[in-house]
Amino acid sequence: MGDNGFVARVPVMNAATTQKIRLIMHLRNMGITDTNTLAAMEKVPREKFIPAAMHDQAYEDIALPIGRGQTISQPYVVAAMTQALELSGREKVLEIGTGSGYQTCVLAQLCRRVYTIERHKPLLLRAEEMFNALKLRNITAIAGDGMKGWPEQAPFDGIMVTAAAQGKPPQELLDQLRTGGILVVPVATADQQILRRYKKEGEDTFAVKDLMAVRFVPLLPHLAPASENADDTPRYAEG
Ligand code: SAH
Repeated sequence: MGDNGFVARVPVMNAATTQKIRLIMHLRNMGITDTNTLAAMEKVPREKFIPAAMHDQAYEDIALPIGRGQTISQPYVVAAMTQALELSGREKVLEIGTGSGYQTCVLAQLCRRVYTIERHKPLLLRAEEMFNALKLRNITAIAGDGMKGWPEQAPFDGIMVTAAAQGKPPQELLDQLRTGGILVVPVATADQQILRRYKKEGEDTFAVKDLMAVRFVPLLPHLAPASENADDTPRYAEG
């Protein structure tokens, strides 16, 4: 109590910071051991990538809608996929499925340059605004079909696909991986999706490891027509 009878209301940390710290501790308990990944996720403000109406859920470990029928992934899955790329800071990484741009920003903290492709142009434009707002200059983004990869920029040291491939990853992505590089991709089989890690050991040889069961939106071909899922874009807060 202060002299004037009011309880001091100077918070040591704001609510978002407290929730963020709780989330990072949760990720550690869930087995995320890479401290660089945890630090990157602590740095990127997830609330800025989701619709205003859901800001209070920004640091819960859940996927949330971002418009066009798409979702920003659950933080645990972002962390597990990022950790699986084993980044040292020098890599050139390709991301397929920019979505909100959140995962892109996490990657941008941890490697030399991120190339990212999104098939919904309105999502890409919004994500690019976020890259600028956060002053991340090592991201190159385009609207297009990521199933074809980005041949002009290949080979990549790491490739992350944040939408589920049917049965197996697109051959183009396997081809565009540098020997020694890692691809992480959710692969859909008949009744489930598994997150897989492909480490390229030679021109056509890969060490494949199943990481965990996941649920992603499907990886779809072609640039999305303007009409596709156009009616559900949520409102974003300014700034
Ligand atoms: N990484 C995102 C999650 C995006 S959800 C985030 O952090 O918010 C998956 C995204 O993949 C969707 O935006 C979807 O439009 C996109 N996508 C699906 N198939 C694609 C393709 N062939 N090329 C590029 N993007 C694709």
